[in-house]
Amino acid sequence: MTDSGKANSAKSRIVALCGGVGGAKLALGLSRALGDELTVIVNTGDDFEHLGLHISPDLDTVLYTLSGLANKELGWGRADESWNFMEVLRVLGSETWFQLGDRDLALHVERTRQLKAGRPLTSFMAEVASRFEIPAQILPMTDDPVRTTVITTDGPLPFQRYFVERRCAPVVEEIIFDGAATARPTAQVMAALRDPNLRAIVICPSNPFLSIDPILAVPGLRPLIEMAGVPVVAVSPIIGGKAVKGPTDKIMAELGVPATSRAIVEHYSGLLDGLVVDVEDGDDVAQLPVQTHITATLMKADEDRDRLAQAVLDFVGRIPDTANTVKAGCR
Ligand code: GDP
Repeated sequence: MTDSGKANSAKSRIVALCGGVGGAKLALGLSRALGDELTVIVNTGDDFEHLGLHISPDLDTVLYTLSGLANKELGWGRADESWNFMEVLRVLGSETWFQLGDRDLALHVERTRQLKAGRPLTSFMAEVASRFEIPAQILPMTDDPVRTTVITTDGPLPFQRYFVERRCAPVVEEIIFDGAATARPTAQVMAALRDPNLRAIVICPSNPFLSIDPILAVPGLRPLIEMAGVPVVAVSPIIGGKAVKGPTDKIMAELGVPATSRAIVEHYSGLLDGLVVDVEDGDDVAQLPVQTHITATLMKADEDRDRLAQAVLDFVGRIPDTANTVKAGCR
């Protein structure tokens, strides 16, 4: 092992960048392996105001997943949920396109109340994570409003209207992050990425366009990742040339990008030292300008999440810190 490799393995903090459901599966595996040595920086571009409430879908997915409260049948929201609120909304003729369970609702009401009173989102989420007994640090990418808008052939759509109401049917032409230009990374995000104990940065298998790009669009965040001097490794959200769930491959096709490992590396051009690729896409990795690790990446059960998390940790342990200085994109 090289000196830099030794130094790398002595450090213990992992920062993961994460969207919602796909990313949270790996974040759970990492959190079970690392406990309080994990920081998850979560996309807030999906946040929106609905029925007067501040909803943070990706943050809440990570929160519910890491606390064991996630609804595994639905794939979103809380387990053990009831739907009285939605039933009455329907009777009232109100907006019902976005489902809010009764237990989930309490989180949105309380968050909205506290944000209105001036509390930053980061501080509120830290308290909820602690009340839910989550050892990992869960950080919004910024406390400033960033709102993903999907420009489609049917016109511009706020993210949740595209994703939930229109079920990703409209053809995507462009994705923009309103507010990103003036958003600031929080002190907590900056501290995590500058932590001398930082061992690696992991980009979870989230949608690169809708979940990771908004994080990277926060000014200063990408340079902090580049300057961290530690391995940056992504887990591909593509298995067998397709997304496991959601519109990642559909959007890639609409934007003229093939659903391949190379395209993922190109998308994160200049950021990555390594890519974890599924066994089904193993043929696809020759000539990639980053190190690769080929393994089964489908996470159905908790054992899969644990196994993939360990594979990722082993992989970053094999990449010395100095790899960061010779990053290559495909362009
Ligand atoms: P969202 O915000 O809820 O859409 O969730 P993310 O952006 O975090 O995750 C969506 C991505 O996760 C999709 O591109 C899926 O292909 C990917 N994904 C979901 N489950 C898995 C899995 O078990 N393994 C891998 N490799 N990717 C997955």
